[in-house]
Amino acid sequence: MNGNYEAVIGLEVHAQLLTQSKAFCSCTTKFGNPPNHNTCPVCLGMPGVLPVLNRKHVDYIMKMGLATNCSITPRSIFARKNYFYPDLPKGYQISQYEDPICQHGHLEVELGDGTTKRIGITRIHMEEDAGKLVHDMHPDTLVDVNRCGVPLIEIVSEPDMHTSHEAYQYLSMIKQIITYLGICDGNMEEGSLRCDANVSVRLRGETRLGTKTELKNMNSFRNVERAIDYEISRQIELIEDGGRVVQESLLWDADRNVAVSMRSKEEAHDYRYFPEPDLVPVVVNDAWVEQVRSELPELPQKRRDRFIEAYALPKYDADILTLERPLADYYESAVAGLSVKNPETFKAVSNWMMTDVLRVVKDSNGTIAEFPVVPASLASMVNLITEGTISGKIAKEVFEEMLATGETPNAVVERKGLVQISDTGAIEAIIDEILAANAGQVEQYRAGKSQVFGFFVGAAMKAMKGKANPKVVNDLLKKKLDV
Ligand code: ADP
Ligand code: MG
Ligand code: ZN
Repeated sequence: MNGNYEAVIGLEVHAQLLTQSKAFCSCTTKFGNPPNHNTCPVCLGMPGVLPVLNRKHVDYIMKMGLATNCSITPRSIFARKNYFYPDLPKGYQISQYEDPICQHGHLEVELGDGTTKRIGITRIHMEEDAGKLVHDMHPDTLVDVNRCGVPLIEIVSEPDMHTSHEAYQYLSMIKQIITYLGICDGNMEEGSLRCDANVSVRLRGETRLGTKTELKNMNSFRNVERAIDYEISRQIELIEDGGRVVQESLLWDADRNVAVSMRSKEEAHDYRYFPEPDLVPVVVNDAWVEQVRSELPELPQKRRDRFIEAYALPKYDADILTLERPLADYYESAVAGLSVKNPETFKAVSNWMMTDVLRVVKDSNGTIAEFPVVPASLASMVNLITEGTISGKIAKEVFEEMLATGETPNAVVERKGLVQISDTGAIEAIIDEILAANAGQVEQYRAGKSQVFGFFVGAAMKAMKGKANPKVVNDLLKKKLDV
C-alpha cells in the first residue's frame, strides 16, 4: 500500500436473531421449512393488517447494546425504509432511523499484538429481514418469503478502523459477543451474520473523510479482509492516476477476487424514511434495562481475564479456551471435577483441551457439544494422573479408549489393566536386571556421562510396558547408580 495514504473503514453488521417467531407477527423463524410456508398476512405485506412488535427482539438488541457499552434510548421509534425489490412484498422494510434503541457504544478491540484499540459504535437498531430470490431451481427466478420479517439487528461502527486487520478483529469480536449472548448463531457462510464494509482513503494528515464505497456480499471473515484490501488499493491507484472515487455499492466476487460495481449508492432521502405509523414507540424503562442487564452472561474478555486470574493460565491458553462459550463452560466443568485444585492441575486440563480435545473436535468438523468425553471424565483422568494411578503416557491411551467407547477413565483403566505399577519391589527387580545387562553404560554413567540416565529410564519403562511409575523408576535408578 502507498504509504502516503491512510484508509478509513466503517462496518455495518447485520445479525439475524435467534428468536422463535418473527419480528412483527407470530410466524416461525424456523429454517428449512418449504418455501413460503412460514407466512401470514402481516409478513406477506397484505394491506390493512397490523404488525405487533416481538418483545424478544427488544430484549436481544438491548443485550447487544449493553454488551457494547451503548446507552439505551428510553423512547425509540420505527421507520419505514421504502424500496422496491421482488423479495420485499411490502415495498418497505420496517427499520429504525432517528432515535435507534442503542447508541454511542464502543468496543476495546484486541489487535493480536498485545495492543487494543477502541472502536466506536454509532448505533445498533432493529429491523426486519427481506425474503430470498432463488435463481437456480427454475428457468425463472423464484421468490421465497419465509425470511421476510425475521428479526435483525444492525450494528453500525464509527469510521475508526484503518486496516483490514482491524476490521477483521472488530468483526471477530462482534461475532464472539453475539454468540456468547446467544442472540445469533454468528454464521457468516450461511448468512445469519452479514457485513458491509465502507471504505475510503485520504492523504495522511488529512482530517476530512474521503468519498466512500460500500462493499457487500462477503460471506466469510477472509473475504471481508480481502475485499477491503482490494478496495483500498483500487482507490489509491485511481486517485494516483488522477481519477476520483465515486460513491457506490460494490459486490465482492470471491471467485475472481474483485469487487464489481452494483449500483450507484442511494442516499438516505432515496428511501424516503418516515415514522412507521402502524407501530407505537418502544418505551424502555430502567426496570426493563436492569432486567436485561441481570441476564447478561459473563462476556468474553472478562471471562478470559478471570481464567488468567483464577486458574493461573497463560493468556494464550485463556484466549483459546474462552473463544467460544461452550468451550469455556467445558473447561470450567472439568476444573470443578478435579480432586486436587492447583495451578498445575488447572494447566493440565488446559493442555489436554488445547491439544487432544480440540484436535479431535477439529478433525471431526464438530463442536465441543458433540465431543464424546464429558468434562467430568476428563477431570477423572487428570485426577488419576495426579494421584499416581496412571502415568501421563498411559493417560494418552486411556483418552483414546474413552473416545472410542465413551467409558469413564476408571472403567478403561480397570478393563485394560493399565494401573501404574508403583510397587518398589517389582520395579527394583527389573532395574537390577537392566543394570546387570548393561555394565558398559553403567560405567559410562559413573564416569560422568549423565545422558546415559535417560537410556536406563527408557529401558525400564519399556520392560514394564510403560506402566511403571516414572517417579519411582527415577528414584530407584538414582539410588542404585549414584553410589
Ligand atoms: P450510509 O447512509 O451510506 O449507510 P452512514 O453515514 O450511515 O452511511 O455510514 C455507514 C457506515 O459507513 C458507518 O459504519 C460509517 O462509519 C461508515 N463511513 C461513513 N463515512 C465513511 C467514509 N468516508 N469512509 C469510510 N467509512 C465511512
Ligand atoms: Mg449503509
Ligand atoms: Zn407472518
